[in-house]
Amino acid sequence: PTLVTEESQITNIFGTSGFKCKKLVTTLSSEATIFDIIQSIIKTKQPEIDSPFSVLDLRVVINQMKKWTTNLPTVKPFYAVKCNPNISLLGALALLGANFDCASPVEIESVLSLGVSPERIIYANPCKSESHIKYAASVGVNVTTFDTVGEVEKIKMWHPNCELVLRIKPEEDNRAQFGLGLKFGALLNEVPELLKAADEAGLKVTGVSFHIGSAGASTQAYRGAILLAKTVFETASHLGMPKMKILNIGGGFTPGSKFDEASLNINEAIKSYFENEEDLVVIGEPGTYFAETAFTLATKVIGKRVRGELREYWIDDGIHGSLGNVVYDYFIITCSTFRFGSKLENVTCKDTKTYPSTVFGPTLDSTDTVLKEYELPELEMNDWLVFSNMGAYTSSLGTNFNGFSSYAKNVYIAYSSDQVLSQENNS
Ligand code: PLP
Repeated sequence: PTLVTEESQITNIFGTSGFKCKKLVTTLSSEATIFDIIQSIIKTKQPEIDSPFSVLDLRVVINQMKKWTTNLPTVKPFYAVKCNPNISLLGALALLGANFDCASPVEIESVLSLGVSPERIIYANPCKSESHIKYAASVGVNVTTFDTVGEVEKIKMWHPNCELVLRIKPEEDNRAQFGLGLKFGALLNEVPELLKAADEAGLKVTGVSFHIGSAGASTQAYRGAILLAKTVFETASHLGMPKMKILNIGGGFTPGSKFDEASLNINEAIKSYFENEEDLVVIGEPGTYFAETAFTLATKVIGKRVRGELREYWIDDGIHGSLGNVVYDYFIITCSTFRFGSKLENVTCKDTKTYPSTVFGPTLDSTDTVLKEYELPELEMNDWLVFSNMGAYTSSLGTNFNGFSSYAKNVYIAYSSDQVLSQENNS
């Protein structure tokens, strides 16, 4: 693989309508593994390389989009920017035909800066401050979610042309690591009052949304939530309100075989409950699905201590940076180790002697511990510890604690030179 930095080549991979992106770009053959590419980056850039760095593998994003279109051909994806707002990921998704779920003016601004039309954005935050609603009105983002009467009043005042999507609370799914129902979603018995409030305010309620919860939610949960949404469509029609058209099935999709299971449940439920609904527009708000497996994080060993058999290491990213997800049980840590110039060892390799190792992050907080008693081969200073599947809720949740803030900045983009990202690819 070779590294290129010229903006023209970057424009090339992003198609003729390519957005400006001055990050380093790596070309690779479609067979090269992400570890080949990381080794190549380390080799080429050593010793000045900024660490930590991550690699966005556009091959993964393209494949995820293909799979989405195959499995859920009737569901339009609105990528949830909060999951990972990396501008190159947003640009690639825009060129692949995705739309966007934004939760704040900053997220909206990022998407608009790529030249994406505001019609491709849903402002999917049920509780917005007045100035943020005014901002949405000023840039022409005209669809938003709500779940309280107070929100209706704010929208009437500051953005009366905005269409509303009623967020409902689906059945609790305690398998989801991040349930959202405690905070968001109207209960079924609150729905008539909310619909009437919107109607009296002269606002149009055009659809229903829900979110079954992120990371680990049962894919069966989509079925129950879609049925619940159908009852809201019926309530609106009993109240004599204009026909609803948007069914927003939210996020909660994970890459891998669980997505196939989710797709089956969703397609069947839409067929069972919405078959007679003409002009129905089904949208989803996948975040994790597109971002998680697309990013790999490379961190450097910056400190070492040996205490008997135990090895302790410090690396230059941690739980206050982009490794916050390792503290959650659901996150399966997959890491590999590299030494400059050669792959040192994959931790799963059985032939190498390993030691129970603790890996600390760089801050002065002692809870900033990334791995505990994890079997690793003997590492030395300046070796690399590389974490896979690091794209979802990683750098976007990183803090500035202790002044370490470089996590999201060093992103290399890997792509295969035979792939051109353009709207045509999505046809
Ligand atoms: N949509 C909304 C309204 C959300 O709050 C979230 C995540 O919090 C998402 C979509 C994305 O969820 P996921 O990453 O599970 O796809």
